[in-house]
Amino acid sequence: MDGKALAEKVRAQVAREVESLGSLGLATVLVGDDPASHLYIGIKHRAAEQVGMRALDHRLPAETSQDELLSFVQELNADESVDGILVQLPLPDHIDEATLVGELEPVKDVDGLHPLNAGALFLGRPTLVPATPLGCIALLVEYGVPLEGRRAVVIGRSDIVGKPVAQLLLQANATVTMCHSRTQDLERHTLDADVLVAAAGSAGLVAADMVKVGAAVVDVGQNPTDSGLVGDVDPGAAERAHWITPVPGGVGPMTIAMLLQNTVRAARFRRGELPFPR
Ligand code: NAP
Repeated sequence: MDGKALAEKVRAQVAREVESLGSLGLATVLVGDDPASHLYIGIKHRAAEQVGMRALDHRLPAETSQDELLSFVQELNADESVDGILVQLPLPDHIDEATLVGELEPVKDVDGLHPLNAGALFLGRPTLVPATPLGCIALLVEYGVPLEGRRAVVIGRSDIVGKPVAQLLLQANATVTMCHSRTQDLERHTLDADVLVAAAGSAGLVAADMVKVGAAVVDVGQNPTDSGLVGDVDPGAAERAHWITPVPGGVGPMTIAMLLQNTVRAARFRRGELPFPR
């Protein structure tokens, strides 16, 4: 499943929507100097500008206090020219992520992490959903992977990937099992999976022979190694899977594309074109 190709299509559609909506602003906030975070923010900025959005790049020093960051977010909440706010995670240790996320105006929370958005997803209401899970589902849909009634197994239960992707699979009427670091006999579950989403952040966690023949495999993992970025699934699994995402070039590009799509969606919610859950 080619994430680069589908991401191109999504971005082209987003560019058309941005044009019809007029001005659209995505504000990103980066605290500190984590090199990986700088890289990710740079990629998001270029992508936002390429589809015609205004990308507002806010970089705050590592010693920014929690109160200062909360006040800054409140200003962005109140800024009419800002449609979406993305605070790059992880934050420095002295800032509590849950407090920060709770401070975001839910209708501008393009990462879909605010409790109101997470709760609305849980209840199956239209809302802002984290970009990576949206990208996983968009790939499965694009390639016509059957979901209804099928067994889906998700490895990982983070708020940003595992939990929301499991909810989206449930909404698509799959029968969903969630695995995590305390799961016993992981292989028993993966071998049963018609659809396997691996989001553990552990290189080679899923060996080729742990994949069911004919399955669809979405490899979310992005693990830096001496030989470059690798996923959670052994690439040899392509011999058994009917569909599989490469790393890189699978979920990664889709995450960026769906972030842009979320920003358009946030703008539509704010303009009253779509009802936002309260
Ligand atoms: P995270 O917050 O560290 O969560 C990892 C999850 O995997 C946890 O729920 C953990 O279980 C589980 N896990 C860890 N080791 C395991 C094992 N050996 N067996 C079973 N479960 C295990 O990570 P995340 O933010 O969800 O990200 C996961 C991976 O996806 C990372 O590689 C990250 O870089 C990648 N990612 C990629 C994109 C993209 O755009 N492609 C976007 C986001 C994340 P516990 O809950 O029990 O600890």
